[in-house]
Amino acid sequence: MYLDDDGAGLVVHTTAPDHTRRLGRAIGQLLTGGEIIRLDGDLGTGKTVLTQGIAEGLGVEGYVNSPTFIYVREHLSGRLPLYHVDLYRVSDPEELEIIGLRAYLDGEAVCVVEWPDRAEDWFPERGIVIHLTDEGGDDRRLELRALDSGARDLLRRLAAWVRPSERG
Ligand code: ADP
Ligand code: MG
Repeated sequence: MYLDDDGAGLVVHTTAPDHTRRLGRAIGQLLTGGEIIRLDGDLGTGKTVLTQGIAEGLGVEGYVNSPTFIYVREHLSGRLPLYHVDLYRVSDPEELEIIGLRAYLDGEAVCVVEWPDRAEDWFPERGIVIHLTDEGGDDRRLELRALDSGARDLLRRLAAWVRPSERG
């Protein structure tokens, strides 16, 4: 099953980095603002590659790299502001206060978060959770779950973009 009956879940298989980037680009083009996208998956599963695609889809200029050493990169040159948050190095929840995570999550910007498990209780139940898995070689499985009606709408549109052979 690729798109759940309620439209809340979509599974996509990608077979190359550029493939994941293109999926990200399609997501970026569908965003309307205020979405929180949590990217949940091990190191090297493609969270940053997907984010680069999302940035491209929003029309962000320049290269989007992982903000691992600074937690948040703000990309303001696109159609909507994009906050790229990477919580990999967070070891103490106190750091989330210092980063000012709440302000990033509350605004009308698009907020893409790598390692959201570091801030489990901080997220409102809205937006999209994407679980990425390395299936060996260049194969990646991306399981997308919508948490609110706007996000469900986005996934439905995205499902129309994904070729049938890539689903499931
Ligand atoms: P993360 O941010 O999850 O740690 P990155 O996006 O930085 O991961 O890196 C993913 C790595 O996996 C890159 O080196 C990329 O080239 C490689 N890769 C191989 N196949 C894929 C794929 N299908 N999708 C995304 N990345 C892939
Ligand atoms: Mg990364």
